[in-house]
Amino acid sequence: MSTAGTNTASTPGEPLHLEPRLEQLPAALLEDGRPLLHALVDALGSPLNVVLPDQIARNAESFRAVLHRHRITGRIFYAHKANRSSALVRRLVTTDADLDAASLGELQHALASGWTGDRIMTTGPKDPEFLWLAARTGAVVNADGPGEVEQAARLVRAYGLPRLRVVLRLSGFGTPGTTLLSRRSRFGTPARALKDLLDTVDLHRDAVEPIGVGYHLDTTSLDEKAAALEGCLLAMEGTRARGFSPRAIDVGGGFGVSYLAHAEQWDRYTTALTEAVMGTRPPMTWDGHGYGLRKENGTLRGTLGLYPAHRPLAGAGYLDALLSRPAQALGGRPLGTLLLEGLHDLYVEPGRALVDQCGLTLGRVLDVREAESGGHVVRLAMNAGDTGLEDHGVLVDPVLVPRDGPPGGGGARPAAVHLMGNLCLESDLITRRVVHLPRLPRPGDLLAFPNTAGYCMDFGATHAQQQPVARKVAVHREGESWHWCLDEQYWPITRPGGQRT
Ligand SMILES: *Cc1c(COP(=O)(O)O)cnc(C)c1O
Repeated sequence: MSTAGTNTASTPGEPLHLEPRLEQLPAALLEDGRPLLHALVDALGSPLNVVLPDQIARNAESFRAVLHRHRITGRIFYAHKANRSSALVRRLVTTDADLDAASLGELQHALASGWTGDRIMTTGPKDPEFLWLAARTGAVVNADGPGEVEQAARLVRAYGLPRLRVVLRLSGFGTPGTTLLSRRSRFGTPARALKDLLDTVDLHRDAVEPIGVGYHLDTTSLDEKAAALEGCLLAMEGTRARGFSPRAIDVGGGFGVSYLAHAEQWDRYTTALTEAVMGTRPPMTWDGHGYGLRKENGTLRGTLGLYPAHRPLAGAGYLDALLSRPAQALGGRPLGTLLLEGLHDLYVEPGRALVDQCGLTLGRVLDVREAESGGHVVRLAMNAGDTGLEDHGVLVDPVLVPRDGPPGGGGARPAAVHLMGNLCLESDLITRRVVHLPRLPRPGDLLAFPNTAGYCMDFGATHAQQQPVARKVAVHREGESWHWCLDEQYWPITRPGGQRT
């Protein structure tokens, strides 16, 4: 990382904004839905999670559009683990998307929300009950390895279940002629052990049917994913050569989200953070935290442990780029073309990307004090577990939702603040960085943490100190008016009085 940063440099003291990228629906809610947001927090308490079910349908459409553009048939499985919301899975069931359940609870939740087994794939670690219910309802099992195939086959025979369709999850792909190896994974069978895996599947042909092969790699690297996809194309041939008829290649999730509106702000921020770690500008974080960077004997060490909050390529656009990429080891034509010619179905399992812009987390300002080190300390009625943005290394500014009047203007001066949570713990910081707001917040104002629906809403929320866990409401817009209901009360139908849910 460059520390010179001539065009991205900033003067100390100048606000370093990380403005969120907000699409139409959440932007409108934060703009003209302010009275509603305050009324909701008044009624239901702080913190409060808001989900926007109509947005998940739009996101599914953009993935579908990419498949159309490449003339590929395929299925878009929403990785449910990104959010526990009922409204999101109930809204999604009305679209042509499918669902990826990673636990018995998620599978039950999907079934109870209107999903049928033929639209569900089960992934992740599986206990016998989870496998049984998957097989019983005709869901596809994304099988981790030979052990799971055997276990599933035993259940199918013992309980007279329908023949189980499995996707064989592979990992550890190597591309011939290159040294590039995909990262280590806890899950999946090493691609080079495919033969042994197929031996196991062969033994259990009566009980399991391999419908495809796949991977899920938790990386932003297109190179690694392209290499894995090539590995899957080869594995499809290997599987066919053994007399099976696989149809699908499953490229997993990890398409990512771009959280920030402006690339320059991200560049400027990370450059300034480096300077602060090196001591050439004042600290930008609580206790000089370096997000993985440190100064050692006058040199910069470590690696920045942050999510790339501004991503030029994310979500459906990332899938488009993957499909457009030339297959290095397989003749150089685009991967999408090879999928099309092989008549393979493409399965994708986006979690974070499918709930992009689908929700936000609200916290009420309790108290504002001057900080000894300059700036102010703002205490919120929420804690670090209620928004996992910091925990996931996502740096993005909250949006000030004033109780009265506009957020800025009227001679208001920008304010640098530390955001603290409601736990009696030194470490309960909502974020470790100094946040620049358009003005100093006042008690009663709300801070809206944008785009928390992917893992940052309910994944890490706890009952620590018996502080309340956020309620969740589903909000949707009809014409100019906003409607809301508790998340669990949301059904995608119109009630007799005209209003949906
Ligand atoms: C978590 C997970 C996903 C979703 O990953 P995202 O990064 O949220 O897109 C998809 N598939 C599997 C197997 C997973 O474990």
